[in-house]
Amino acid sequence: MKMNALRPFAASREATAPMPVLFLGHGSPMNAIEENVFNANFQKLGHELDTPKAILCISAHWETRGTMVTAMRQPPTIHDFRGFPRELSEVQYPAPGSPELAETVKGMVHSGDVALDHKWGLDHGAWSVIKHLYPKADVPVIQLSLDYTKSPREHLELALELALLRTKGVLVIGSGNIVHNLGLVAWDKVAGEPFAYDWAAQANQRMKELVLDGDLATLADFGKQGRAFDLAIPTPEHFLPLLYSAALRGTNEDVTVFNDQPVAGSLSMTSFLFGQRPTLPY
Ligand code: ZN
Repeated sequence: MKMNALRPFAASREATAPMPVLFLGHGSPMNAIEENVFNANFQKLGHELDTPKAILCISAHWETRGTMVTAMRQPPTIHDFRGFPRELSEVQYPAPGSPELAETVKGMVHSGDVALDHKWGLDHGAWSVIKHLYPKADVPVIQLSLDYTKSPREHLELALELALLRTKGVLVIGSGNIVHNLGLVAWDKVAGEPFAYDWAAQANQRMKELVLDGDLATLADFGKQGRAFDLAIPTPEHFLPLLYSAALRGTNEDVTVFNDQPVAGSLSMTSFLFGQRPTLPY
């Protein structure tokens, strides 16, 4: 690590105690505007955590060839979904960007090039959850894309290169869903009591154990864990953000599991807080 890589963002800022790291299950875009237990917990977290100087979000919804980081001063709110009420497509989350932090991230990564992006913005994987944490949109947010040409182990390597951000007041948020199979959604079970297919419950439980054990190698080998994982992760983009968050956990740091609830059989909202024991009940 070249220390001068941190200068653009760190020059005027004191080093801080490590910020926690989050993995947030985002689920349906409607969670952006609904009142439910998941959002209530995000709101509690927002009150409880030290306010970060900036947020770096790795969202399931930005996949690119090569790694990119948003570098505009004012990222637009992207409504990257169809078939939802107009109310949802009118949501704006006008958090500023941070070209300085984007430069810092680019400088920290040596496993490959990180391109500065001026076309993306904040997709719903980012804003639908961050708006509950920081409703005033006063914390700068940048996004790091998922390079679809990388192997899971290469994603882990890249994640580890971001570790120093935690001591610079940056909150890293992975946003996805650890169990996410839209093709198998039980549409008759969307409302009512939480329901999980057996394989979904099994995969969710095993993934939690692996995260708590800090078993990054097995998490990265998710494609070799059998049927339950294969059904839970039909495509990798909603799972990969977990690798980024789990990789940034420090030795012996606490992990808090919350929003551990299935939705419609084939989704789970399970979320993780790494590195800070919350005082509020979840
Ligand atoms: Zn999603």
